[in-house]
Amino acid sequence: MLVDGYGRKVDYLRVSVTERCNFRCQYCMPEKPFSWVPKENLLTYEELFKFVKVAIDDGITKVRITGGEPLLREGLETFIKMIADYKEDIDLALTTNAYLLPKAAQKLADAGLKRINVSVDSLKDDVAAKIAQKDVLKTVLKGIQAASDAGLKVKVNCVPMKGVNDNELIDILEYCKERNYPVRYIEYMENKHASDIAEGLNSSEIQDIIKQKYNFKQCEREGSSPSQDYKLDDGYIFGIIEPHKDDFCATCNRIRLTASGVLIPCLYFEDAQSIKEAIQENDIDKAAAILKDVLANKPEKNKWSEEDGDTETSSRAFYETGG
Ligand code: SAM
Ligand code: SF4
Repeated sequence: MLVDGYGRKVDYLRVSVTERCNFRCQYCMPEKPFSWVPKENLLTYEELFKFVKVAIDDGITKVRITGGEPLLREGLETFIKMIADYKEDIDLALTTNAYLLPKAAQKLADAGLKRINVSVDSLKDDVAAKIAQKDVLKTVLKGIQAASDAGLKVKVNCVPMKGVNDNELIDILEYCKERNYPVRYIEYMENKHASDIAEGLNSSEIQDIIKQKYNFKQCEREGSSPSQDYKLDDGYIFGIIEPHKDDFCATCNRIRLTASGVLIPCLYFEDAQSIKEAIQENDIDKAAAILKDVLANKPEKNKWSEEDGDTETSSRAFYETGG
């Protein structure tokens, strides 16, 4: 079992397989970075898998593949199959913008993927295009349908932003409710890579909008899910991810690995250690020791919390860390 320095059990690994992306979401990566990590500096799937095995053997029970846009990395289904074959009961999921799902969904399901989280920030062509800086909506919706047809369980992520998509939160909820996809609104996490104009809604502002049409009750918090769930009168459950709440980090159970082999204990802070050398030298004990050390030094909580007044801005890039 993996436990961090604050006694939190860590059983969830997020693996970013690329920082590259085919979208330029305002809240994440409005400009292409000056330089991408050269492809030769990335860990191969075999190398990433070596670390995933270390992590699973030490107690990781859930692995999520993310990015950048993970479907941009060729052969993702081979990586998925490696993990699915290694541990049949692993909770294996993928977070994607869905743009490449129309072609990829069936291959991913055949490789052993069970679940996907997709980003839907708007159901209007022009607004979706403004957020992603590309005409994406029709293809994204086709991708979601393809995933559902392939038997993948779908969850939807939405980042509400003032003056951009805050008038669509009910439409997005209803799109999801009709299809029985849980939706989770994610409070915008301030970071210096985002567009200067990005301004998020906090949880109570999001709830106030949903309340205009629906009654709902707050659910008991379950396990270490980052989502605070709410139940509508008809039983449909939506969630809000509230990193600005002071107690958000109390049940954090996750650790993140980037495509270049950097192990990151917290989405907010820059602190990290590389497992690249250990993995490339096949020194599994060293990789396991680095994992333990990173966990021992996992920060207690992020600095987005509004407890002390102003929210601070992280310098970590979501597209690199994988959200
Ligand atoms: N490209 C994929 C996607 O968009 O789903 C996976 C990577 S993306 C970094 C993972 C998640 O992080 C997405 O749900 C995205 O909405 C979320 N995200 C990115 N930047 C964010 C920010 N500044 N605040 C809150 N969520 C953010
Ligand atoms: Fe790309 Fe996802 Fe970031 Fe949007 S949120 S720019 S789709 S990595």
